[in-house]
Order: sequence, then structure tokens, then C-alpha cells
Amino acid sequence: MLSGKTALVTGSTSGIGLGIARSLAEQGANIVFNGFGDAQQIEKLYTDTGAEFGVQTAYHNADMSRPEEIEAMMAYALEKFGGVDVLVNNAGIQHVAAIEDFPTEKWDAIIAINLSSAFHTTRLALPGMKQKNWGRIINLASVHGLVGSSQKSAYVAAKHGLVGLTKVTALETAQTGVTANAICPGFVLTPLVQKQVDDRAAREGLDNDAARKALLSEKQPSGEFVTPEELGALAVFFCSPAADQVRGVAWNMDGGWAAQ
Ligand code: NAD
Repeated sequence: MLSGKTALVTGSTSGIGLGIARSLAEQGANIVFNGFGDAQQIEKLYTDTGAEFGVQTAYHNADMSRPEEIEAMMAYALEKFGGVDVLVNNAGIQHVAAIEDFPTEKWDAIIAINLSSAFHTTRLALPGMKQKNWGRIINLASVHGLVGSSQKSAYVAAKHGLVGLTKVTALETAQTGVTANAICPGFVLTPLVQKQVDDRAAREGLDNDAARKALLSEKQPSGEFVTPEELGALAVFFCSPAADQVRGVAWNMDGGWAAQ
């Protein structure tokens, strides 16, 4: 379905971004990977993905908190593949603390990486998408783009902001072949969430399994983690012709979290 198209997935060296990049590659899209990690492992990751799905892959190490590096990454995608057809704004970090104890540099970093980076990639991708009259912008928000949780002020603010940016992007592209939508996952077992599991296990003297269950039971009625593969399938749906008129939604895939 996506052969001949190029997808750029920010923060795709791990977790959800990697799952979505693999799902889009399976549909034939060339992939520009981005994110941090060990250089050799990253090279193996994008080389292996290209070979597995018979697509072209590349990597750019832009730090998504730095607009000038984001500009360099978008220029690289243009030079390498002639632009970005599917933009997945996925890179994100978390920090858990009460507002009065929240380190101001963590606030700034979360707003920059989880929210402002999507503004920069979107503003740089839109002219090419509009010119081709086809494009898909998929923002990885969170169930925390729909509801709050204590101790997560910066994350919840950034994710609500990202849902807002998604709506405005959808309106400004409404009469074009470009769509913008947000995905709002509940808990997915990635390194970002495993850190919260580890903190809980240490704090409450639980083993790993018990800490995972405790975390889920508080918020996610299904008691099951969402998987990167399930999120990848939703991203593929947003790229399909059936989703041509799906515009500006914030689609939760959260085991029932936001239904409560
Ligand atoms: P993860 O920690 O597994 O992956 C995060 C990715 O972002 C990694 O590739 C990392 O290298 C990259 N990254 C971090 N800072 C970066 C920076 N400054 N510049 C470039 N890349 C950077 O996390 P994940 O759980 O896969 O999260 C992916 C997205 O999904 C995030 O936006 C997160 O908020 C969102 N999300 C996650 C969950 C969950 O339960 N895991 C739930 C809802 C939403």
C-alpha cells in the first residue's frame, strides 16, 4: 500500500516508534529512522529492517529538542528520498514528580521533545505534502492527551497540546489530500514504562510482575498492555484510503482507560 512512499518516524530506535516503523515498512514504505542509542545497534536495526521488508531505510540522529537539528533531518529526508509522505511524531520522554518538585529543566525538555518537535517537523513537512496533495501526519499523543494523572504535569500538558496541534493541522489541511490524526495509547510495555514499573517495584518492595500488575490495575481496565504492533496497525489504517476523511481525531487505544 505504501510502496514508493517515505515515512519518517521520530524516536524509532525503540518501543512504539520502532513498532510503527516496522508496520509501515511492511506496507512498502521507505523509512527514515531517528532516535538515540548505540550507533552499531542502530545501524543493524535500520539495515535489517530494510532487508526484511525490501525497502530503503536511512537514519538521522537529530535531537528532537533542537529545532536546527530537526531542520537538518528534514533536509536529509528531502535529499535522500524526495521528502516525507508519512510523518510520525513519536519521540517522547517522561518524568514523574509533583508540580512543586518538578525540575524546570525536565519541564522544558518534555515540552520541547513531546510537543514543540512536532510543530517543527509538521511545518517543514507540510509544503511537500501539499505539493503532492497526499500526506499523513500521525502524532503519538497518549491517553494523557485526553485525561490527566497526578505527578505528570509536563507530560499531560505536552500531550494535550499535541492533540490540539493535531486538530489545527487537520483543519489547515482539510481540503487537501493530507490528513493529521493522533494516537492515544494507554500503557505500552516499553523502556519508558518499564522505568515506572522499576520505580514502583523499588518503592513498594514488589517483584517485576507484581509491579506491572499494580501499575495496570490502577488505570487500564483490560489489565493488559497495549502493544507496539497494535499501534502500528492503527497507523497503517490512518495511511489507508479508507481513512481519507479521518481528520483531527485523537484515537485512544488504551484498554478502556479513558472510558472510566
Ligand atoms: P521509548 O523510551 O521506548 O522510546 C522513545 C524513543 O524516543 C527512543 O527511540 C528514544 O531514543 C527517542 N528519543 C528520546 N528523546 C529523544 C530526543 N531528544 N531526540 C530524538 N529521539 C529521542 O518510549 P515509548 O514508550 O516507545 O514512547 C514513544 C512515544 O509514545 C512517546 O511520545 C510516548 O510519550 C508515547 N506513549 C507511550 C506510552 C507507553 O505506555 N509506553 C503510552 C502513551 C504514549
